This record gives sequence, structure tokens and C-alpha cells, in this order.
Amino acid sequence: MIRTTACALDCYDACKIKVTEGMFPKMTGDNEHPAGDGSLCTFLNRSIHNEVRIEKPRVNGVEVSMDEAMHAVCSAFKKETSLFWRGSGNMGVMQEVTNLFLERMNGTLTHGSLCDGAGDAGIVAGRGVNRVLPLEQIKEADTIVIWGRNVTVTNAHIMPFLAEKNTVVIDPVNTAIAKKSECHLQIQPCSDIYLALVLARILVMEDRQDNKWLEKFAPDYKAFFDFISEFKMSSFLGYCGVDLEEVKAIIPYLCDKKVVFLVGTGVQKYTTGNAVLHAIDSLAATLGIFGKKGCGVHYLSNSKLGFDNPFEVVCKTVSKVTTEFSDFDTVLVQGGNPAESMPDSTRVCKSLEKVENLIYFGLYENETSKRANIVIPAKNFFEKEDVRLSYGHHYVEKMNKIVDSHIGMSEYAFTQYLFDAFRLEGLESEEHYIRFWLNQCKEEDGNYVSAGFEEIPYAEGFGEGGNEPFVFIKKLDDRFFHATDVDKRFYLLSSKTSKALNTQFKRDTKIQIHPKVGYLEGDKVKISSSYGVVELEVVLNENIRSNCVLVTSNTLGVNFLTPSIESDEGENACYQEVKIKIEKTEGYIK
Ligand code: SF4
Repeated sequence: MIRTTACALDCYDACKIKVTEGMFPKMTGDNEHPAGDGSLCTFLNRSIHNEVRIEKPRVNGVEVSMDEAMHAVCSAFKKETSLFWRGSGNMGVMQEVTNLFLERMNGTLTHGSLCDGAGDAGIVAGRGVNRVLPLEQIKEADTIVIWGRNVTVTNAHIMPFLAEKNTVVIDPVNTAIAKKSECHLQIQPCSDIYLALVLARILVMEDRQDNKWLEKFAPDYKAFFDFISEFKMSSFLGYCGVDLEEVKAIIPYLCDKKVVFLVGTGVQKYTTGNAVLHAIDSLAATLGIFGKKGCGVHYLSNSKLGFDNPFEVVCKTVSKVTTEFSDFDTVLVQGGNPAESMPDSTRVCKSLEKVENLIYFGLYENETSKRANIVIPAKNFFEKEDVRLSYGHHYVEKMNKIVDSHIGMSEYAFTQYLFDAFRLEGLESEEHYIRFWLNQCKEEDGNYVSAGFEEIPYAEGFGEGGNEPFVFIKKLDDRFFHATDVDKRFYLLSSKTSKALNTQFKRDTKIQIHPKVGYLEGDKVKISSSYGVVELEVVLNENIRSNCVLVTSNTLGVNFLTPSIESDEGENACYQEVKIKIEKTEGYIK
């Protein structure tokens, strides 16, 4: 017998999983699923099985029964102020069922994002809603522009959809896909907005814009063309660190072709992150590629678009990026690790340490669980029922329980315990909520499909109803770039690696530096920013620009370097809005 579920890890692919039952159960991807190719990545094949789980609940460092631990949780929620801070360790919809309890306790939730919120805001500014571009449209494209997304690491299951296409890569790093592409523009970090506007300007100068589409769907295009004609091309090219001929080399891949842009999150980890996606969308609109077969811009979409969310509540909220934990008597951290994954770790850790009742509800030990007074082990996604939406494609999967486990409790069971303990009414059954999500899905060839799915998004127009025009970007205010482009410090790139999902799984202690900078492989270096210091070991990497360093997001201490600031729109963390100094040290690497 074969049972099915879906991977709940924070990843574009949201793979469907098949598990054969029997003496030697085997787990594979589903090669019949439209978004899969039958394979699973190393996180599922190895990491998740090797990682040591928290098995026993703890109160003040002492292992206790689950009932004793939940009594302590109840006492903590009798205090005056409480906050839920939820991470993205598990992307199942049932994670949010805990909101229902918090609302009844008059507690506080967070708003904003540590991931894609700035880019999402830029997309919404132009298109009105952030719809997913179906993989099937990507498959129809002639040219794929991979813009700041290391697809082979973060989105490997999209690779079959890119086969035999012309690929253009725009990335400060010479990634594996960049090496195989027709063109690679190795631009400066934080200069993506300038490149998008330069490309739009070249299209207009060469009269290659799609006038027919613009007249119909984006009638304010003349104001945009005036805006891009005002800037000095040579200055913008200088910011990008590439010359005009290199940029012009990609124009033939964009014009009179079916073009898809795949944009990653790295381009928007700045205060201007919203403007970057808005500028890339404005370039796409100049080409007239929205609403056409085999065309569009693929970013992280709003996976809940079109759904009624039974866990949407009316609560006070505070910023997820600059959360002041110490303002609350009780803080519940669920499926996350703010002590290491939020920017500005020095501030965050000090703030967490002042919380009277810090409750950690999760799978693995980390810097947050170590600081918690109450630790509740969670069930992993093989051990509970759930529903998986995806920000990378439009398929929805019912997550069936695959194994029984004595470890931990599900988010639903946690919520139910608290409803019972506080004699609250109104919590529906787990099955009710799961059906509530699935019943809203459409069905296509035996697969659930997102309620917001459109085969060719924006074919009729923009906005919720598809009857609004596209809105172009009209201003540019890049304080960080202009404040720092002349100094000698290094840009920090903090991309993902195939070994970890942020602070989940394998951790690292390395910094990647271009050999030209003068350090040797294995040198111990002190890295500092205005926010903090960390010691790391040098790995030489010729694939990055010499004015950048790459410290992957699973690196211990990387967020001691990053700032507690939010993007101008979208309330997003600005992990890369910082420049760092490097000094050699003989010190011990922690
Ligand atoms: S590729 Fe992504 S969704 Fe698929 S198994 Fe790996 S982490 Fe999960």
C-alpha cells in the first residue's frame, strides 16, 4: 500500500511524497505529480532523519510529562500580555490554528516577513495581486531569465521545466546555473533595480516595447518612459558594475520571445526591496509579457490567494522583524528560531532573555529552545494531518499522517488542550479545518489546485477582479546603495545552501571571499558590522565579486551582523542592507 503526503519544509517545490508501507518503508517523490520528478532532496532523504529531535517536554530545564508542561503553558497564558512568534519551519496550513487561542486571550501576533514581503509588496503595487505563474507556463517559454535565484539549490524541481531553453542569469554570484547559461550578468549586489530600469530604457530607445499590450493593459506607460529617460544611463550601469555591451547582449533573448523571469528573494533583502520587484515587473510590462502563454514573472506567490482562511483572526500585531519580545510577559515561539534567524541577534537575544515565560514549541534544539523556560516538542509533518499550499506552484496536497509517534504534540492538539483548559468554546474538529481548506480547492486531473489558480494569470487584466491596469514604478529612493557604494567595506550576501534551510539542519562557520581580496583558504577572520561581530573561517571562491562576501544563512552567528530594519513597503527584513569589515585573527573559531 502507498500513502501520500507532502514536504512541509520552507521550499518552492512543496514536493508530493509517496511512502510504501511494509517491512522496509520507502519514501520517494511522486513522478506522476505535475510539479515533481520522482526525486526528493537531501533534506528529506537524509537531514530530517539524522537530526536529533526534542523528545521530552521541559520546564525550567527539567524534563517533565506533557501534562505538566502544558499546565505550565496554561499558567504562562494567565499573565497579562502574550505574543505568538511563528517561524516557517513547517509550511502546513494547520500551523496557524494556534491563532484561534491567541485571539481569545487578547494576545498579539506578528506582521511582516523575514523572507519575501518586500518583493510581494512591489508586485502588489504593480499587479494588484500576487498570482502564481504556473509551472506549465514556464515550460512553454523560449527564454528564462533567472534573476537572483540559485535554482539548483533552492528550487531544484523546476529544472525539468527549464530544459532546452535559453537561460539568462542575473546574479552577483557565478552560480552553477549561471555557468551553463547563454548570458550571465554578474552585477553588483543591490543594483538589480538599476539594471531593470536600464533594460527597460534600452527597450524603449530601440522601440522594442509592446505598444499594443501597453495601450490595453498599462495605459500610464508614457509616464514610466519619461521617468526612465530622466536618469543617466552611464551612472546606472556604473552602479550595476557591468557595461552597456554586456547588457545589450541579453536584449535578443527578451524581444519577440516568450519570456519568463524567475526572481529570487535575495534581490529584495533591502529597504528598497519592494521597488526592485516593482521595477522588474515594470520591465516585464514594457515587454508586454503578462497574461500571455509561456510568459510572466515568477516570484514567491501568495499561496493563500482566493482562500477563506479559518485561522485569520483580529489581534494586535507587532513587527516580525523588529519584535521587542521583552514587552510581553509570555512569548510562544512556534516552529521558529528567532534567536538565530531574525536579524540583529545581539538585540534579539537580549530581548528574549528578559521574557518571563518564553515557550518554545518545535522539533529541534536551537538557540531559542536553550533560552526557553518551557519546551514543548512538536510532531513533525509525517506524524499529523495537514494541507500544503505552495508559493512556487498552484498544486495543493493533503498531508496524511504517515507514522504514529509518541513524541510531541500537533498544533491542533496544543490548541485543543488550551481551549479545554480555559473552558473556551468554538474550536472545530481538526478534520473540519482540513476539509475547509480542501473544499475550497479546484480539481485538475485528480490533483487539488489552489483556489486562486489562473491558467494564464493577468490575461484579462490586473487587480483582484482582473479589470485594473498595470501600475508602473515611478520613483526611486535608494539610500543604502548611495550611502555605501564608494566605501571599502564588503557587501554581505546571505544566500541559502543545499545543506540547510536557514537554521534547520547543518550549520556552518565559513565565509566565502574572492581570492583577490588577499586572504588564504582556512584563515580565521573577524567579521564586523555596526551591529556586531562574528569569527569565521575563510573559503576562497572565485565565483563571487571581489567587493562581496558570501555567508550562507545557515552560518552560526551571521545575524549578529545584520540590521533590525524593515523594508519601505512589505515590512520585510533587510538582511543584506549592511556592509562588513574583515580583519584577520588567530582566534579560535566557535
Ligand atoms: S525539494 Fe523542497 S519540497 Fe522537495 S523534498 Fe526538498 S525541501 Fe521538500
